[in-house]
Amino acid sequence: MGTGLVTARGGASRDLPWLVIMLCKDPWKGRPLRYFPILFDLHGRDVLIVGGGEKALQKLRLLTKTSARLRVVADVISEDVAALAELPTVRIDQRPLQASDFDGAALVFATNDDATADSAVASAARARGIPVNVVDGPLVSSFIMPAIVDRDPVVIAIGTGGAAPILARELKSKIEGWLPAQFGRVAQHALALRRRMHDAIADPVVRRRAWEALLQGAWRTAVLNGDDGVADRELGRQLDAARDGVRPAGSVSLIGCGPGEPDLLTLKAQQRLQEADVLVVDRLVNPGILEYARRDAVRFDVGKEPDGPSALQEEINRILVREALKGHRVARLKGGDAFVFGRAAEEMAAVRAAGIPVEVVPGITAAHACAASVGLPVTLRNRVRQFAVVTGASADGPLDLDWAALAQAGQAFAIYMGVRNALHFRDHLLAAGASPRTPVVIVENGTLASERVVATELSELARAIADTGIKGPAVIFVGLDWVSAGLSRPEKVELYEPQPAREGETTQGAAAATALTG
Ligand code: SAH
Repeated sequence: MGTGLVTARGGASRDLPWLVIMLCKDPWKGRPLRYFPILFDLHGRDVLIVGGGEKALQKLRLLTKTSARLRVVADVISEDVAALAELPTVRIDQRPLQASDFDGAALVFATNDDATADSAVASAARARGIPVNVVDGPLVSSFIMPAIVDRDPVVIAIGTGGAAPILARELKSKIEGWLPAQFGRVAQHALALRRRMHDAIADPVVRRRAWEALLQGAWRTAVLNGDDGVADRELGRQLDAARDGVRPAGSVSLIGCGPGEPDLLTLKAQQRLQEADVLVVDRLVNPGILEYARRDAVRFDVGKEPDGPSALQEEINRILVREALKGHRVARLKGGDAFVFGRAAEEMAAVRAAGIPVEVVPGITAAHACAASVGLPVTLRNRVRQFAVVTGASADGPLDLDWAALAQAGQAFAIYMGVRNALHFRDHLLAAGASPRTPVVIVENGTLASERVVATELSELARAIADTGIKGPAVIFVGLDWVSAGLSRPEKVELYEPQPAREGETTQGAAAATALTG
C-alpha cells in the first residue's frame, strides 16, 4: 500500500455522480511540509564527517549506532574523537579536506563550527548531489537531524523544522518514558515471524486480525517480558485459531467526529479510527481527524449537501453493507454527533437488516461545541430551562416547526442548517409573537481556525447573515446571550447592530406577520 490514505471509488458507484473524490491536498491543512521525514538506509554506506571537535563528536555518537562506515577528516582532531578510531567502522584522517573525500559518500556532515568552512563543505557536497547537514546551519543544509527515539528496529524521529528544538527534546523525553525499553524486541520478533504468518494464513483479512491479536495481546506482553515460552504458546494458539477460522464478520461504527477540531474526538472514536479497514467520510469531517486512521485504510468520501439527493443516502448505505460483508471494520465518520441531524437511523437500519453488527460512538454536536467555543451557556438556572435543537433544512416543502413554542419567552434553541432559511425563521418567530429583540448568536465554522461569531437580535437575523457574509456551516443560537448569563461578550464576537429600515423593507416583518397569522 502506498502512502497517504487511499481514496477509492466503490465498484458500484460508477453511476454515482455525487460521490465526491477528494484529492491529496487538504484544504483544511495549512502550509505544505517543508521537511519530509524519511528513514535512510546507511547499512554499509560511507558517511563523511568534516571536522574533529565537539560538534563532530555529537554526530559521531549518533552515527556509530548505525552500520555505516564513518570517515572523519579534519586538521584538528580532539582526543574524544580520536578515541573513536578504535571502532572498526570509524576512520580518522587528520589532514586538510580533499575533493576525493566526497567520493562514494552517501551523506556529508559539516561540523567545523565555522560558517565559511561549513558552507564550502555544503556547496561541495551539493555540487556532487550528496545530501549534506551543516550543524546549526539549517539554511545551507539539505537535511536536518531530528531528535531520535531508538527502539531498534522501531525508530521515532521528531522534527520541528528547526523552529524549536526544545519542543522536540520535550517530546523525545516524553516518548522515551512512555515507550517500553524492550519495544524493539516486539518488532524484531514480528519481523522473524512474517514469513511464517504469511505461509500459514492465506487470507489477508484473517492475517491482519491475527497480527493485531498478537501485537496488541498476550504475545506482545510475553515478548516484552522476555517470556519466550509463553510467547510461543500464544503464537501457536493464534495460528490455530486463524487456520480453522473463517474470515471474521465485519462491523460498522457510526462515529461522531465532533465539529472539526480533532482534539474534540473521543478516545473511543480514536480507537475505532485506528482499527478501521474502511472509512466512509462525510463532508463536514475535518481531514485532520483522518490522521488517526491507518494509512492503508480505504476511504470513500461521500460528501453530501444538507438537503442533497436521498439516492446518495441509499448509495452510502450500500457501501456500508458491502464493505462490512467483506469482513471489513467500517468506520462511518460523521460530523458532530451521528444522532443529531445525521441520518444515523437509516444507516443503522440498513446495516442491521444485512445482519451486520453496528454501534454508535457519540460525538460532540455542533451546538455544544460552538457554545463552548464562544463561552455561551445553553441553559441558565431559573432563566433558560429548556434548550432545543431544530433543523433549518427541509427536503420536502416548507419548514414546519412549532413556531408558537419556539417563540415563547425563555425558550432557547440552536438552529442547524439554518443559514439559507434565516429569513423564514425570523418571520415565523416574529409572527408567533417572539420579541424582535430576542438575542441571536451565529457561530460559523465553530472550533476551527476560521471560526466567526456574530451577535445580533432576532429582527436582524437575516440581514446580519447577508451583510456579514456568513455562509455556513453555522449554528444559530436564539434566546441566548452572555449578558443574561452574567458574562461579558468575548472580544472575537462581531456585533451586528439593528439597522435603520431600508426602503421597501419597512413593513416586511409586519406584512409577513399578518400573512402568516392571518
Ligand atoms: N451531526 C451534526 C450535524 C449535521 S447537520 C452535529 O451533530 O453537529 C450540518 C449542520 O451542522 C451545519 O449546517 C451546521 O448547522 C452544523 N455544523 C456542523 N459543523 C459545524 C461547525 N463547525 N460550526 C458551526 N456549525 C456546524
